[in-house]
Amino acid sequence: MDRISWDQYFMAQSHLLALRSTCTRLTVGATIVRDKRMIAGGYNGSVSGGVHCIDEGCYVIDNHCVRTIHAEMNAIIQCAKFGVQTTGAEIYVTHFPCLNCCKAIIQAGIKTVIYAADYKNHPYAIELFEDAGLTVRQVELEEMILDTNSQEKLNLTADLLEKLASAGLDAEEVKPLYEKASKLYTKM
Ligand SMILES: [Zn+2]
Ligand SMILES: [Zn+2]
Repeated sequence: MDRISWDQYFMAQSHLLALRSTCTRLTVGATIVRDKRMIAGGYNGSVSGGVHCIDEGCYVIDNHCVRTIHAEMNAIIQCAKFGVQTTGAEIYVTHFPCLNCCKAIIQAGIKTVIYAADYKNHPYAIELFEDAGLTVRQVELEEMILDTNSQEKLNLTADLLEKLASAGLDAEEVKPLYEKASKLYTKM
């Protein structure tokens, strides 16, 4: 079995954290890494003990939900709370950081930002990252790495489709189904 890359490992962790998000507008996860070790993680949610957007609805001002603390902020604050150094660290985030998080990331001494999805990438954030000498790169999560049965599923689907073909279904009809299954079940 192939081992997954560090990038995929940490990016998967951020996506896992995003599943804990309590805001309905966007679910974001962030993982801070130093020397290939996860030192902190966060997702966007309310302050501890506060009401959740998923229960009470978002608190929107100027088209932003102001109830939540962003994932990157939560991860950085966790380091402050427990006295963990962030200098020279890397941060893996599911979405390109907003301006405020961008500034916090720079100020925390984080040197590398790895993000999965573009999200309103603000030109000023890009400029600030550049000026501060951070490395910013995009790494999309290959979701199939999390499915350890993907090959089995593909084989089963291929068998089923073959049976359909031998039962008289047109090969032209089976082909797109097989292609779709391949896309769903195999590593990119
Ligand atoms: Zn919200
Ligand atoms: Zn943010």
